[in-house]
Amino acid sequence: MSGQTAKIASLCECGSVAVRQVNQFINHGELWWDAEFSCDSCGTYLCEQAGPGTAPDDVREALLAAHGPAKLRLAGPVASLVPAMKVFREVSAVSLSQARELVERLSHDGVVGTLSEMELLTTRLQLRGVPVDIDR
Ligand SMILES: [Zn+2]
Repeated sequence: MSGQTAKIASLCECGSVAVRQVNQFINHGELWWDAEFSCDSCGTYLCEQAGPGTAPDDVREALLAAHGPAKLRLAGPVASLVPAMKVFREVSAVSLSQARELVERLSHDGVVGTLSEMELLTTRLQLRGVPVDIDR
């Protein structure tokens, strides 16, 4: 399992264009993300965020733009989709109807997200006996 990194241009207080480097990865079986801000002009360096949880939209968008989306699909027949729904509810904290929709997508077009998000789902789904594959 490997993480992904992206760089986002961001304006520094000194007026220069600085860089926010964002990372998303799996740590102890949980999705983590972090962000650090660094400005070459004035030397400002900040660790903005480091911790577990779903990354905010701007971070996810930067990762998706840099690496492209990963697509998760059902890799074989399953007797029941209930275990998959449980995983989506646990991992993505979605409602029952959203979980049902995600499972539906899993067996048709695929569920799309960042590679780390899909890797986490793969691990959790396989633990529950749901066969899945990531298309990259
Ligand atoms: Zn600066």
